[in-house]
Amino acid sequence: MRESILIIGAGVAGLMAARKLSAAQHPVTVLEASDRLGGRIHSIQPPGFLKPIEAGAEFIHGRLSLTLQLLKEAGGSYQPVTGKMIRVKDGKWQVQEEFIEGWDELIHRMAALQSDMTLADFLQQYFHEEKYGLLRQSAQRFAEGFDVADMHQVSVLGLRDEWKHEDEEQFRIPGGYLQVVDYLQHGSTANGCVIHTACTVKTIRWQAGQVEAITADGKIFSAQKAIITVPLGVLLADVSHATAIAFEPEIDAYKQALQQIGFGTVVKVMLQFAHPFWLEYDKEIGFLFSEELIPTWWTQLPDAEPVLTGWVGGPPATGFKDLDNATIIEQALQSLARIFSISFDQLKSLLTASHVARWQTNEYSLGAYSYNKLFTTEARKLLNEPIQNTLFFAGEAIYDGINGGTVEAALRSADEVGKLIS
Ligand SMILES: Cc1cc2nc3c(=O)[nH]c(=O)nc-3n(C[C@H](O)[C@H](O)[C@H](O)COP(=O)(O)OP(=O)(O)OC[C@H]3O[C@@H](n4cnc5c(N)ncnc54)[C@H](O)[C@@H]3O)c2cc1C
Repeated sequence: MRESILIIGAGVAGLMAARKLSAAQHPVTVLEASDRLGGRIHSIQPPGFLKPIEAGAEFIHGRLSLTLQLLKEAGGSYQPVTGKMIRVKDGKWQVQEEFIEGWDELIHRMAALQSDMTLADFLQQYFHEEKYGLLRQSAQRFAEGFDVADMHQVSVLGLRDEWKHEDEEQFRIPGGYLQVVDYLQHGSTANGCVIHTACTVKTIRWQAGQVEAITADGKIFSAQKAIITVPLGVLLADVSHATAIAFEPEIDAYKQALQQIGFGTVVKVMLQFAHPFWLEYDKEIGFLFSEELIPTWWTQLPDAEPVLTGWVGGPPATGFKDLDNATIIEQALQSLARIFSISFDQLKSLLTASHVARWQTNEYSLGAYSYNKLFTTEARKLLNEPIQNTLFFAGEAIYDGINGGTVEAALRSADEVGKLIS
């Protein structure tokens, strides 16, 4: 009999590990707190929407081999994201290539950097002159929006590795990211893996070669090894939190390592309109970057869905924590009204459906995705070492490679843990 495995969390990392290890004849049990699978992949069709939307992961950032391979196996397709990147400032629209003066110099300076520092220190040291005001603002916005990072914490060497790939082609999955989740789930259960949903692990009691996971309702699951794939936000949360996990005995060095990884947040607002009114402004709008409260917007190009998605990431997103959805939707419409110089009432009358995804207050993730802080690389080395060959960590935040914070990172991390065990 091969060693039994408990997997905590059924996002793509948990399910990837489940499929691999169950295929290798390990008895595998997956414990998932939520009543659905997929975690930060959340393809849904809220009331009023004509088609499903992605409340979590939406893009494939480049030709990422594992994601594309699984999607192919799942029978899914992907299509390149098209359209122009447009910056809106003081009511003026400019296509992206023309606007960030000095960006090449910034990338060049990053490439030459010998020792790490935060983005805030880097900009202060090399780009403090007045003429770089717009460049500093753009770099901060990019780090916040794309990397969901705090400029006072994020590592420049980490950003350098990310931003190198910034020009890569992006793809969307017309049938939804959830196809990958469903495919992994079916592959796992077909191999005999058992998946329990609505099963929140509160305590992991362990010793070498033996683990007990104790759930919020007092059930006890035992195995010889456990793979913990819950999001970093949950791992960092105080034990009083509903989904937080206590370790007995404590794993202090690993807890300290987890604190060395950044974890940002996002508010994503999806608005469906009676018709795609933006086509009257420009038929090729892909992304809009503005200075509004909800600054970043995108269309579904090349699809003609009348849906605009708004995005606010990093520290500015934390300001939305205590707002209700109706207020966020009103602010989203106000942002769009100013971007398109259209009246708020007119815009509101065109709205046919809306959905707000607030990841900071989502109790199953307590944030959106990870970013590199100054000592993240060293911390990840430890986190990728199993504890007494019994406790293993996996998931997007644990992955030690490029494409951090993505579905690909989660899949790769799980694949590597799977190789260590099987
Ligand atoms: C808004 C948003 C947009 C994104 N956009 C993209 C994108 O465009 N492209 C991309 O590649 N990536 C994107 N990402 C990142 C991507 O979604 C994640 O990197 C990836 O899905 C993480 O997978 P995971 O398995 O590591 O974690 P998760 O999917 O978070 O899975 C962890 C699971 O653990 C469960 N859990 C939590 N606590 C407990 C507990 N106590 N007991 C049991 N189970 C528990 C959770 O419910 C969850 O199901 C985005 C993320 C967000 C939030």
